[in-house]
Amino acid sequence: MPTEGRNLPAFAAEFNGWVLLFDSGEDIQRQIGRAGIGLNKRMCVFITHMHADHILGLPGLLLRLSLLGRIRPLRIFGPEGLIEYVKMNQETINLGTTFEATVQTIKTGLIFSAEDLSVNAFEVDHRGTAFGYRMTYQRPTGKFLPERALNLGVPRGPLWKALASGDSVTLDDGRLVTPEEVTGPKPRPLTLVYSGDTRPCQALRDAAAGSDLMICEAMYTSDEAGIAHERGHMTAESAAQIALEADVRLLALTHYSPRYGDGSVILAEASAIFPRTILARDLMRIELGNTDEPVVLEH
Ligand SMILES: [Zn+2]
Ligand SMILES: [Zn+2]
Repeated sequence: MPTEGRNLPAFAAEFNGWVLLFDSGEDIQRQIGRAGIGLNKRMCVFITHMHADHILGLPGLLLRLSLLGRIRPLRIFGPEGLIEYVKMNQETINLGTTFEATVQTIKTGLIFSAEDLSVNAFEVDHRGTAFGYRMTYQRPTGKFLPERALNLGVPRGPLWKALASGDSVTLDDGRLVTPEEVTGPKPRPLTLVYSGDTRPCQALRDAAAGSDLMICEAMYTSDEAGIAHERGHMTAESAAQIALEADVRLLALTHYSPRYGDGSVILAEASAIFPRTILARDLMRIELGNTDEPVVLEH
């Protein structure tokens, strides 16, 4: 349940003009405003499973996007039941949208790709059908090298911008210049993995392998491992164990029970096994790709 200062599950990944939203806990519409995320951007929503704490915010989000006059279509992905849920909201509370909203039920595997971005779903071990997501982003080019551009006679300005964004350009004299000629080697792809709600499982271990950031639930401490298993959740210890085996760069723990207050005991248990662990906090930002390691920026 939400507590003072902690809302229900939801996070947004922003990439090159895209916003990918994962889960839609209650009050997501206000949090997304507070986070300063542009609501008319290209956007998709990925729901992990049909439990209230992960989906109660979806109708409010659709309403807010409409009140702000969104025009761009919105795609919503998730498990069986999601189509009926959205339809029921549209019919019973007259939730119309100013934009085209399509809901798609998913299976495991590649479910979405656009430009240099892809999202894969994997089935986790919770109660009922539940998915986790792995998102990969391959930056279109390496670092832009101005000297090379000047040597090739490409004038400073819009052509530089186009080349740096991965587009080839034609010069006034008819020569074609490709991005590869004026940029360094492409950096490795960035990957982000979200567990959803789950018991420890191999699918999560596999999906998380080598990822930059793993956002993982840690509902209980290990002395409640029995309850965690029974209710389909993870302990801080098991989350850290998976992060260690998967060799992720950063583990962000979330979805811990309100009984743990500020979560310091959850953090302590996980950090003892996997030191590169943080507690995800509301409105926290984590930057990937500017440096080799993720950078945590508190709001
Ligand atoms: Zn759940
Ligand atoms: Zn949950």
